[in-house]
Amino acid sequence: MVAFQHRQRIEALLQAERGCFRKPFGSGHTAGVVFPNSYHVGMSNLGFLYLHRLINARRDWMADRFFVDFDPPLSLENIRAPGDYQLLFFSIAFELDYLNILDFLARARFPLRASERGSEYPLIVCGGVCVDVNRHPIYEFADVIVNAEAEAILDEFLSLFEEYGGDRRRFLDAIRSMEGVEVTAGACQRYHLELPAITDYRVPLTERVISHDFWRYPCFAHIVTPNTEFGDMCLVELARGCPYRCTFCFVGHNLNPYRTVPLDELKRWITEQQSRTCKFGFVASAVASHPQIDELCEFCDQLGVKVSYSSLRAEDVTVPMIRTLARSGIQTLTLAPEAGTYRLRRLLGKARLPDERLFWVIEQALAFGIPNLKLYFMVGLPTETEEDVLGIVDLVSRLQREFVASSRTRGRIGALSLNIGIFVPIPKTPLAKFLPLAPDQIRLHVRLLERQLRKLHNVRFSLPSLTLAQVQQLLVQGDLRVSEFLMFAQRYGGNWRQALREWENRVGIPC
Ligand code: SF4
Repeated sequence: MVAFQHRQRIEALLQAERGCFRKPFGSGHTAGVVFPNSYHVGMSNLGFLYLHRLINARRDWMADRFFVDFDPPLSLENIRAPGDYQLLFFSIAFELDYLNILDFLARARFPLRASERGSEYPLIVCGGVCVDVNRHPIYEFADVIVNAEAEAILDEFLSLFEEYGGDRRRFLDAIRSMEGVEVTAGACQRYHLELPAITDYRVPLTERVISHDFWRYPCFAHIVTPNTEFGDMCLVELARGCPYRCTFCFVGHNLNPYRTVPLDELKRWITEQQSRTCKFGFVASAVASHPQIDELCEFCDQLGVKVSYSSLRAEDVTVPMIRTLARSGIQTLTLAPEAGTYRLRRLLGKARLPDERLFWVIEQALAFGIPNLKLYFMVGLPTETEEDVLGIVDLVSRLQREFVASSRTRGRIGALSLNIGIFVPIPKTPLAKFLPLAPDQIRLHVRLLERQLRKLHNVRFSLPSLTLAQVQQLLVQGDLRVSEFLMFAQRYGGNWRQALREWENRVGIPC
């Protein structure tokens, strides 16, 4: 009965998709591409969709999608169990999704640890930005870790599988000599290969492999669906890496060089995909940095397609970009000042973002008829004082006055909302070298901010969870022992707080 409802739900999702295709199961080597979150979230993830398309582009391979909100897990295209596939690729974009990977493996009835899985199970391959940041928490559960952009290694990886697929040991031995590919200790142990060197619960980092001309294989979402976060939108990748060096950000310091897709290619992709949708989402770490962004916006204006951006850096946003956003019917301008005081913004590498620039961008958005404003801030930043926290309140109240005055003349007052996060130091970034604020101090700062923000009228805000920030910190910084923490979290049904308590008691390492 459950399986029948499952099938019905899958059928309904597939019918709503445009661009979806199905290669018959067994028409080639079989791969599952797993997004460790729901369909709704995963179908707005370009990296995941791109991998699905890249594998299917090979004649001798077929790839089906998996999401974690189907129980038992079943592939979308062929409605098969995970155990039917030869390879399962996990594309990991959020650290907290590590838990969903364990859940997925458990519900598929796979042993969690690589060392305990025999050749009757698919090989588990993990990649994605989280793995680039810190693969240690997931290391024990994966057979293979990929620290590379997919198009840089995929062809060789799959060709080697074709060559040795029947012999796991030979295949794993062959891929471990590839740059950016790592066979984990668990898989080495299981298949009697030489174990990698592990010191102080850490595995030495492999060099990341990138593709310099990644855009030669068009980077857009081939499937469009209304049942996702960015409904009916075709995501298009504009660039990789980032030309900036914000001191808290992993991308600007580790995923470079900055590479952009030529304008002519982007125009061609958008024109071709216009038959499937008239909504396009530009994806890049900093969309405004694309050297021809204004021309691209003008091209979309002429074509009459709607456009939105994955990120809008207030320092660089241009008038044509805002005009295109407004013409596309976007109702909310989202900006990330991150800190209330200019002193902290400078520390974050945002010296080109004084208050005046923020006010200017917001004024432009209002002038073009974008009524709502959403701002992202962080608390718990290194060197942060109460004065910095009050700086957020001061900035928001000044923006609000300006916002209300400007909106009133236009006859409509929009909504002002804030998203407040707790700073988590990311390894291999300059800010991670600073002394972090103590949890008690962060708690005080969050409370102070809450008290003061409540005094402002018509400002909506959500407060961050200190527990989730502690979990995230553990996952981005922790070593191989953190896999135990994930096991606790899985045992407690995703109760992070209880898992943290147990981990501290049993392993004895404070977070
Ligand atoms: S925060 Fe954005 S603009 Fe700054 S380095 Fe990271 S990706 Fe680039």
